[in-house]
Amino acid sequence: MSKQIVFGLVLLLTIGVFSFTIFRLIGFFRQTRAAFPIRNFGKRFMVMLDVAFGQTKIFRRPVIGLFHALVFWGFCVILIGSIEMITDGIFGTERALKFLGPLYNIIIASGDIFALIVAVSIIIFLARRLFFHIKRFEGIEMKPSTHIDANIALTMILLLMLSLQGMNSAYYAHQIATNNLIEGNYPFSAFFADLLSGISSGTLKILYEVCWWTHIILIFIFANMLPYSKHFHVFMSVPNVFLTRLEPLGKLTNMDSITREVKIMLNPDTAFAAQPADAPVERFGVKDVEDVTWKNYFDSLACTQCGRCTSVCPANITGKKLSPRKIIMDVRARMNEKGPGLVKNGKQYSDNKSLLRDYISEEELWACTTCNACAKECPININHPTLIVDMRRFLVMEEASAPGEIKAIFSNIENNGAPWQFSPEDRLLWAKDLEIKETK
Ligand code: SF4
Ligand code: SF4
Repeated sequence: MSKQIVFGLVLLLTIGVFSFTIFRLIGFFRQTRAAFPIRNFGKRFMVMLDVAFGQTKIFRRPVIGLFHALVFWGFCVILIGSIEMITDGIFGTERALKFLGPLYNIIIASGDIFALIVAVSIIIFLARRLFFHIKRFEGIEMKPSTHIDANIALTMILLLMLSLQGMNSAYYAHQIATNNLIEGNYPFSAFFADLLSGISSGTLKILYEVCWWTHIILIFIFANMLPYSKHFHVFMSVPNVFLTRLEPLGKLTNMDSITREVKIMLNPDTAFAAQPADAPVERFGVKDVEDVTWKNYFDSLACTQCGRCTSVCPANITGKKLSPRKIIMDVRARMNEKGPGLVKNGKQYSDNKSLLRDYISEEELWACTTCNACAKECPININHPTLIVDMRRFLVMEEASAPGEIKAIFSNIENNGAPWQFSPEDRLLWAKDLEIKETK
């Protein structure tokens, strides 16, 4: 009973801290704009199965992709064991899911195997980060704190797996020592349990309890650390894939504000009926975090900072300042900075800074070729170019700011109806000497 009380208090504390974080994030989401409507649930579900659970994009880099996929699948299986531990902790039961019979054996055996696989994979990930010069993990956006954050999260996962293995091994050895029934199958822990065979049953019980508490408390700490870490993608990546923008990559959306302006020009009465004349003037494009859509912000929370987008970006590869990963990370950083002020003081709040220029420069934005290689490569279907284009829209429509070449194109379109500097009357001059007969 005392274990239940202590567990209940620890769980309440965990839920309390987690709820605070979630309410904080909801407050930030409220500051963002609407995005595309979420329809086509069937198609979304298939995309989620393929990209999130199938990890298909991750396998474009087969070796490290396989390790990452194993960690993801391992997490899914081990999650069932964690749910059982929480149930046991609340209700004082012992292995609450054992009623599943043969299925329970499969779940526990898979969890046991995956605990070892995940531990080995995490050691490889840590070694790559600490001892190898991986270009993908570098860039101006990858600050020392970013690397420390990643290494702490990986170490936590490693400790989680070690405590799970310790718990399983101590349980197995204890049941053997006391001639009790072993619930579940433990292919790897049975091997490790042999190493504990000389230890008394009382000590094994204590070892089991220590590993049990270590594991569950690490889960609770990890769950509360994640929203402040790049490893928030553990929670966010699957829903982010489900919320994928389903339109073809490269298809630009119309801006509602512009559509309204055009409607007002064509038929002021109808347009004003839909939008009152005294409605606040909407900003064109994106200047700061309150202008991004909730999906842009969701993307920024889900980003794994893996750098796959930047590694295929032609602008970045050819030495331009643009890094699509940085654009996404900047949205999250800027919301962390301005979000509390926006929540407290409303959307008119200003701290005399903005996402544009204080975080993302014009040079970065205009370096983008809108090729969509980043969006195609991103393992969780983040769409960078739509945000880049929205920031350019602000520059062009609100500040008339664009590189000289683009400004020339704009004035040619305005004057000649085409991007070229020739009069429309001259368009057929090339055919003048070809003796082409006019047909009627
Ligand atoms: S945007 Fe996608 S590809 Fe780029 S770093 Fe984030 S998760 Fe990786
Ligand atoms: S769309 Fe822009 S940011 Fe993305 S890969 Fe192409 S150039 Fe880079």
